[in-house]
Amino acid sequence: MSIKITREKPILIDALPRLIARLPENYPRKDELGLTQQLYNIEAGFSGETKVDRYLELIELPESSIVLTNVQLSLAPGHSFQIDTLILAKQFILILEIKNITGELYFETDPHQLRQIKLNGDEAIMECPITQLLAAIESLKVWLAKKGFNYEIFGQIVLANRKAAVKVAPSNAPILHLKRLSIYLREQAEKSPIFTTVELSRMKELIVRNQSNYQTYPLCDYFKINPNILKRGQLCSRCNNSMDYQSHKQRYCRHCNMSEPNNYRQSIQDWFMLISPSLSNRQCKYFLQLKNRDDAYYAIKSMQLNKVGKSVATKYYWPKGRPFKIIK
Ligand SMILES: [Zn+2]
Repeated sequence: MSIKITREKPILIDALPRLIARLPENYPRKDELGLTQQLYNIEAGFSGETKVDRYLELIELPESSIVLTNVQLSLAPGHSFQIDTLILAKQFILILEIKNITGELYFETDPHQLRQIKLNGDEAIMECPITQLLAAIESLKVWLAKKGFNYEIFGQIVLANRKAAVKVAPSNAPILHLKRLSIYLREQAEKSPIFTTVELSRMKELIVRNQSNYQTYPLCDYFKINPNILKRGQLCSRCNNSMDYQSHKQRYCRHCNMSEPNNYRQSIQDWFMLISPSLSNRQCKYFLQLKNRDDAYYAIKSMQLNKVGKSVATKYYWPKGRPFKIIK
């Protein structure tokens, strides 16, 4: 049987570029935070995960299989765990830890870490994926046991990139190249069934219902950045410098010698993504560098935000569940 797999795009893919744009050039923690590298890693990770999704859609999965993506569950307050892809089949429960990395890979054990020699010769040390996988297996096992399911859980590290060459790994390490995944799944499917179709869908419902939403917003909280240092006003879409007020409808960039239409909506969205879950008229005036309350009121009105409170105490909130989008 083949199925349709959906996966939500990580919110940081849209939000991190806005934070990078609003951080001043000379921000001292730039290197320490390595935001551009983080963005690159998240994008590469997401692209590897969706590649595995498309692969799983094409191959023959065991009958009644259920594929869940980006599963996030909580064992206790402050202790949650994340699974890239979870396959529930009648014969097995399987966790896939997906790695979209290239070059020579050394799975070292003393200490446990992954050493990567990139295609350009650079070296990088990463957290050991085997350790990550074993931790995820253990966490899911405990989580399911609490709900009355006591079963063995399998796991594999899937190398989504063909340009990954495993040079060193412990014997029988659960590491597969993506193209071997169908063979592995076929072998697993030959085992005797341990679940009925009803049990499978019960387990799926249980997991979906208990998904914990990891709170990344606002990003200044998440990365411990003082929001007061961020650039204010509308940023030039070419050079990310603050633009000057030219007229109600136009902003002007001194660096590029270019005008752009006013874009209140991107700046207001930046506020919610980066700084705070609520926005007052005064904060809007300050952050958007507007001249008066009326202009701020007009800017807020352009957004369809949720309004709480009256007159000067009025606060506006981003509607729950509405995704952030880059506004051009
Ligand atoms: Zn510019």
